Amino acid sequence: MGNTEKLTIVIEPDPILHQISKEVESFDENINNLLDKMAEIMEKFDGLGLAAPQVGILQRIIIIDAEIIANEEKKPLPKTRYLKIINPTVLEVSKKTCTIEEGCLSLPAIYYSIERPEEISIEYFDEQGKKHTLKANGLLARCIQHEIDHLNGKIFTDYTSSLKRKLALTKLKKIKSRM
Ligand code: ZN
Repeated sequence: MGNTEKLTIVIEPDPILHQISKEVESFDENINNLLDKMAEIMEKFDGLGLAAPQVGILQRIIIIDAEIIANEEKKPLPKTRYLKIINPTVLEVSKKTCTIEEGCLSLPAIYYSIERPEEISIEYFDEQGKKHTLKANGLLARCIQHEIDHLNGKIFTDYTSSLKRKLALTKLKKIKSRM
């Protein structure tokens, strides 16, 4: 994984955001360092979640700010602030869907309402390599689905009309040229 010091957010359009990430094979110090860095970046940019490909690392690693999400939904606070999801597998999604406005640190200033399943069950590993299952609904389920998409090279504008995709891309290219 190398030097994680210089990690920055990958902004669309960028081919990295459209590639499939690899499974994590060894749960070592590198994973913890990367997760720490990802937490820092997520906080700096006010994100709810961040997937490793968004910082240019094509590994199936996600971090979610479970505390902010619980606060937002007035649900009991989680034991730990960050939900760290490695090598997730989707076990089940609900037939019932809901529409929520999504944004993404890799698509700054773009917000579109997206319809997705309301509930999701996943299996995943934590940073120690311990397996967990998790059933989520509401904003947490939304966030998990959005981040898992990143691991599969998918971004939320893939769900919108081609016109909206084009508008987003024009806006993003302008933003990128000013960076
Ligand atoms: Zn995103």
